[in-house]
Amino acid sequence: MKILLTGGAGYIGSHVLNKLGEQEHDIVVLDNLSTGRKESILYGKHVNFSIEESKRLKELFSNENFDVVFHFAGSIVVPESVTNPVMYYSNNTVNSLSIIEMCVEFGVKNLIFSSTAAIYGDSTPGGVCDENSIISPLNPYGHSKYMTELMLESVSQAHDFNYVALRYFNVAGANIDLKIGQSTPNATHLIKMACECATGKRASMQIFGNDYATEDGTCIRDYIHVDDLASAHVLALDYLVNKKDSVSLNCGYGRGFSVFEVIDAVKRVSGVNFETRQVGRRAGDAEKLISKADKIRELLGWQPKHDELDVIVSTALEWEKILASK
Ligand code: UDP
Repeated sequence: MKILLTGGAGYIGSHVLNKLGEQEHDIVVLDNLSTGRKESILYGKHVNFSIEESKRLKELFSNENFDVVFHFAGSIVVPESVTNPVMYYSNNTVNSLSIIEMCVEFGVKNLIFSSTAAIYGDSTPGGVCDENSIISPLNPYGHSKYMTELMLESVSQAHDFNYVALRYFNVAGANIDLKIGQSTPNATHLIKMACECATGKRASMQIFGNDYATEDGTCIRDYIHVDDLASAHVLALDYLVNKKDSVSLNCGYGRGFSVFEVIDAVKRVSGVNFETRQVGRRAGDAEKLISKADKIRELLGWQPKHDELDVIVSTALEWEKILASK
């Protein structure tokens, strides 16, 4: 198939690219390298410009006859979205509209979209969300992604166009063969931060909030290995092509770990007892987000292979050691 992959130099995009590349598709990677790394593009042809460059975007769609678009490009840091909402609506919502507009104009019938569990916020008592849980984002990041889901839904109803929106829970870890991993500069995500402490890149890290209504007082998240998430995208492509139907699906394992549990795991796996500092809550954080994970297994036949916190942590750690040695 002829595939456009936006954000293919980024963390999740590059892992999906790696899997699609093994299947010998004809792939174009659109990435302006604002946060991605050129070295992570292991397959396909790279075009380097921003989605905001509408003339170049139109030329690309007009020159290539894409069958499907994987739309990863976007911004993903919850606290940053709170302090810079315009950037999030621009990078996530406005740019997604540009991509969708091109699909309509040039007859691209399939799109796979990176959505997020952040759209659920604290809406569900107990924090275990299925796809019908109330949508109630607590931050501009979640709003910006949900607005895109709404646009996709409307467009799929009006045109010969289908989408799969994958609602990612907390993605971490690195490709099992350690060819690629999370290299985002100035990362803020928990497992990445803790691994940076374990390898000595950081002296210490903060724990945001210990007064949540959870067992140990810290937030709970459903951490999922990036390789399993990448497999879900490949299955989503099969679904779109065969079923010609649109759907939003949670991507998580269905169990949660607290911030303390994650930090303990990184300390245990690395053997390094790094320093942490307890500070107040971080703006925009939901208390507990765990996926109800049945629908994706039923519809896509998804069978995760790395559902173990220690595996997620050890691959993240090994990748961090590789980065540190460079
Ligand atoms: N967190 C933390 N210290 C950090 C980074 C994250 O305590 O340095 C907490 C954060 O407040 C949240 C959880 O870890 O409760 C997961 O945050 P992350 O940024 O990894 O992902 P998010 O759920 O915000 O997408």
